Amino acid sequence: MFNKKTIRDIDVDGKRVLVRVDFNVPIKNGVVGDDTRIRAALPTLQYLLDPGAALILCSHLGRPKGGPAPEFSLNPVAEHLSGLLGRPVKFVGEFVGPQAEKAASLLKPGEVLLLENTRFDPGETKNDPELSRRLASMADIYVNDAFGSAHRAHASTEGVAHYLFGVAGFLMEQEIRYLGEAIANPARPFIAILGGAKISDKIGVIRNLLDKADQVLIGGGMANTFFKAEGYPVGDSLVEDGSLDTARELLAKGKNRLRLPVDVVIADRFENDAEKKVIEMGPIPDGWRIMDIGPHSIEAYSKIIGDAGTVVWNGPMGVFELPNFAQGTFGLAKAVADSNATSIIGGGDSIAAIKQAGLSDRISHISTGGGASLEMLEGIVLPGLAALQDSV
Ligand code: ADP
Ligand code: MG
Repeated sequence: MFNKKTIRDIDVDGKRVLVRVDFNVPIKNGVVGDDTRIRAALPTLQYLLDPGAALILCSHLGRPKGGPAPEFSLNPVAEHLSGLLGRPVKFVGEFVGPQAEKAASLLKPGEVLLLENTRFDPGETKNDPELSRRLASMADIYVNDAFGSAHRAHASTEGVAHYLFGVAGFLMEQEIRYLGEAIANPARPFIAILGGAKISDKIGVIRNLLDKADQVLIGGGMANTFFKAEGYPVGDSLVEDGSLDTARELLAKGKNRLRLPVDVVIADRFENDAEKKVIEMGPIPDGWRIMDIGPHSIEAYSKIIGDAGTVVWNGPMGVFELPNFAQGTFGLAKAVADSNATSIIGGGDSIAAIKQAGLSDRISHISTGGGASLEMLEGIVLPGLAALQDSV
């Protein structure tokens, strides 16, 4: 299934290795916040450093518009990474150019250099061949470990691999193995749980998973659009009128496989201390809105999850940020953790929920890439992966 060369297939002793990592982390007042993404790259970096590679690291950070901006500098990450690796990390305030090239050429085996934010160069997102070529010229080998950016064909994620022998790092490999296997060759029953705010974000995913999964369990705000498409008044619930036709098409396609909540928790305001009621699914009164799936839905979904061979989950079941409407999301989190299935969770809010529930370590795989994991589930080939060397 996974058919790309990895860092196990290359000899890096004394080589200069350009590693595209995903260091797109929150930074406040020059200090790194949640460093999960940096830690996720450490196995690859350590594996390359041990036999004596010199590492040139690059990543984007945020979405700087129109050139360099100090609040998007990767400089704070160099210091943080140095602490994690237990060795100095040099930083150069340029992505590609004379200073970066000089710093890269001076690197000795075992040394680490972090380049400035790739997106400070307008050629990055345009996948400019000249930028890719110049980036490639700094190193002997290219390693892509930035799964979270692999769905973008940018100079540092795709273009550079046309000029340099490119292989996958461990994080990339692990992500593709879990997500790719779930789609191509899942242990069955294969159950997908899809929720979150909007159906429009995830139409491609629902469509593809309706083909691949045995059952697709729907919750969250996206369920409301399905309810409305079925003809129920949904009161003041979040709904996407522009997606009603698509919802009808998916309902028809998914007849026996698409499951909607059988009961919901409704509230008279979008607030934690709003008045709330549990109702069997039916017309939602004016002035009320759906905030969570109800207890019978939690029970029914949990039973299906308990018997699953593979579970893929993207998107919370309700407005879990408000504790009074978090039962659906936390209830399913527990069911997924308790199940013997191979479990995969993706999506920023879904991961936040599983962490809050304290159940992260009972999930088989928590994906580091939101957009990239959705595109995998949609069945799209990631350009950053496609550009790497095929194995055999
Ligand atoms: P993820 O980041 O895991 O992909 P999304 O960003 O798609 O998930 O959706 C998460 C958001 O969906 C949360 O902020 C949550 O409050 C919201 N949400 C879930 N259910 C509802 C609902 N019934 N009404 C409004 N918002 C909802
Ligand atoms: Mg989100």
